Order: sequence, then C-alpha cells, then structure tokens
Amino acid sequence: MPELPEVEVTKRSLKSHLQGRQIERINVREKRLRWPLNLNQLNHLLNQDILSLSRRGKYILINSERGTALIHLGMSGSIGILKNDRPIKKHDHFDLVTDNKVIIRFTDPRRFGSFIWAGKNPEKHKLLKNLGPEPLNNDQLGLHLHNLSKGRKTSVKAFIMNANIVVGVGNIYASESLFISGIHPKRRANAVSKNRYLKLATAIQNTLEKSINMGGTTLRDFTYSDAGQKVGYFKQELNVYGRGGSQCSKCEQPIKSVLLSGRSSFYCSNCQH
Ligand SMILES: [Zn+2]
Repeated sequence: MPELPEVEVTKRSLKSHLQGRQIERINVREKRLRWPLNLNQLNHLLNQDILSLSRRGKYILINSERGTALIHLGMSGSIGILKNDRPIKKHDHFDLVTDNKVIIRFTDPRRFGSFIWAGKNPEKHKLLKNLGPEPLNNDQLGLHLHNLSKGRKTSVKAFIMNANIVVGVGNIYASESLFISGIHPKRRANAVSKNRYLKLATAIQNTLEKSINMGGTTLRDFTYSDAGQKVGYFKQELNVYGRGGSQCSKCEQPIKSVLLSGRSSFYCSNCQH
C-alpha cells in the first residue's frame, strides 16, 4: 500500500510536471473508484493554471485558481508520467493530459483510489477536515502525541496509526519507529511518558524522511525516463517490519510477530517495553 513517503514522492513528481502548466484534457476509462469519478466537477480543473501541488496526509492536492482536486492512491494506486503515449492497460483508469502533452496516467488494480473535486476550501472538505497534524516539519509532534494520549487506553501502536491523531504513520512506520524508540507496541497510549513520546516523534520523522529520501533516488531515475516508468513503492531497510523470527539487530533475540488491532505487528520483546 502506498504510504506517506510514496505519496510525498508522487506529489513531488507531479509537481515538476503540473505546477505552472494547465490540464487540457481528462480522459476517463473507469469511473468506479473509491468514490465515483465526477467529471462535471473535475472539469473545473481544465485550462486553469495549476498554482501548486501539496499533500495532506495521503491526499495529493492539485490546486488551481478555481479550486482543488484530490488524488488518493488507495491500496494499490500509482501514477505514471508519460512523455509519449503507450497502449492502455487494464487498470489504467484515467489520464490527465497537460498543455505540453505530458500524460499523467492513474493505474489502480483494486480501485480504492480516488480523484475528486474539493472546491475552494479543501481543508474544510469532509475527507480532510478531521485529519490530525502532519508528522514532518512538526517540532511539536512529541508534545502533541503526549497531550492527546491522556486517558487513552488503546495501544500506542493503534494510537499513532490513527489519522485523527497524526496522519501518515502507516503500519511499517509505526512498527519501525516503536522499535527505534524502544516502546512496546502493546503498551497503552496513556502509559507512555512525555520523554518517550518525544523520542517516538523523532523516530517517526526520521523513518519517514529516510524513506522519502530513498524514494527520491528512485524518482531521479524515473523522471528522466521517457519510457514512462512509474513511481513505485520503494524498498527500505527495515529493523523489525516483516522480519518475524529473525534476529533483532540490537540484541539478536528473535523478532516477534503478532496481530494487533487486526494488523501484523513486529517487535523485540527484549528491547521494547
Ligand atoms: Zn532486541
């Protein structure tokens, strides 16, 4: 599933092709995405200067003078940027064609992604208005987590994965940052001290940034490829995630794997308390 780093890298890639340009055409082949694709609304984007691209959680915002469109990659979405057209494949659901004939192609086998019009005040849109703060470039993150954790008996892992608390901490990043900060994923959110939340916040930020930087390397290859390579999901060096049974990199005990709130969770019971 595309996580915050993939979405951020996709946004940067789109920005380099869309900002300051116009979208001339939207070609739709499949409207049945997470929400039905509404061309009457999305056509507001046409022939408008694209002022900027931004990201809120895992939504990419395409901001024009008339308003903002949101793209979400869902479970399996990806965006290809094509300087020359290519045959349409089965899951290529829509294209944006720019005024300099670059084709931005949205592909999504599972169709949980979305492309919707959010109007002039996207921050008030129902999909965005309840989102917690961004984790990156946020020096208040640790304090914010500690303040919101009061009275919360849920596990700290479920707490940091709740987008109403903080956006963009997916399963991989939650597992990795809890390992780095030495916090047991099943510990109750209200039983983690302020100091430990400060450490956890730094671990979340470092883990996400490292992944974005690795994606940036992928992106460089991708941007200069005329073949229309996709922004993919990048490989990362993981300490615990997906490593159940193998040795902990700190203490060499086996990494444990359990289901927690229905999600596979990985931790070292020797290093995390
Ligand atoms: Zn360990």
